[in-house]
Amino acid sequence: MAYTLSATKLITYQQCPKAYNFRYERGLSSPSAFGSPAFGIALHKTLADIYKDWNYDYPLPSLDWFAMCWQHHTGELKPAQIHEGWMALQLYYEKYVAPLPQIRKPIGVEGKIKASFQVNNIEFSITGRYDRLDYTDNGLELIDYKTSKTIGPSDGIDLQLGLYFLILEQIYPEALDTLSLIYLRQGQKVSFDVTPDHHQQVRELIGDIAVKLRADDEWKPEVGGHCNHCGYQKYCPAKSKKPEPLPEGTRDARQVQLVLGI
Ligand code: SF4
Repeated sequence: MAYTLSATKLITYQQCPKAYNFRYERGLSSPSAFGSPAFGIALHKTLADIYKDWNYDYPLPSLDWFAMCWQHHTGELKPAQIHEGWMALQLYYEKYVAPLPQIRKPIGVEGKIKASFQVNNIEFSITGRYDRLDYTDNGLELIDYKTSKTIGPSDGIDLQLGLYFLILEQIYPEALDTLSLIYLRQGQKVSFDVTPDHHQQVRELIGDIAVKLRADDEWKPEVGGHCNHCGYQKYCPAKSKKPEPLPEGTRDARQVQLVLGI
């Protein structure tokens, strides 16, 4: 049977196997593993509306259109977050919309995708929802919006983009040309060209994490700055001298996967 993976699962596991275990193996869905996602969700939904609902008979949306879409998604946010989000959207408008003669309608916005791949004879079913897929003069560009306060290292492959790349190349063989991250707070875009080498690196990176995840029975805590946003600190032996017992009803630890031929 195929093992189901998602970008969120892979990212959580890469950051901390213990947090992955709490969330996906033991089923502790609340509190949230890595802080409140409300700000990021509001910005993602706004950008989705901006592109989905624009009337493409007109060449360029105005900044008022951005403000109107933003207002629909600020209900859950604090005043400081509303201000910060609007600053990010204005920056996005100035850099990626205003200089264009016209915007092109994306091929997909918040598209759900699914595919399967095999590593070491283990079949993985991978699912995800990309932010935007654009048609460019050179082919397709997959775009992912980031709301982090810092820009990640540009020499590494972004795990989430890599995963969507593996799925999309099955749907649009050889059409995907560029993978891009847009850091909304900073107004910066980091792009990777899709090359055969890149394809191999993505498969190796994701295959490696997926196989480790499938076979893990230790779930070692990975302590780092991300712990500050982790909702499982009180249960975590690496962060608490006397960790609290897990709540009643928590699922038992998974049995070691002895059947895997890895
Ligand atoms: S507190 Fe840190 S080490 Fe512990 S589970 Fe959370 S992220 Fe992992």
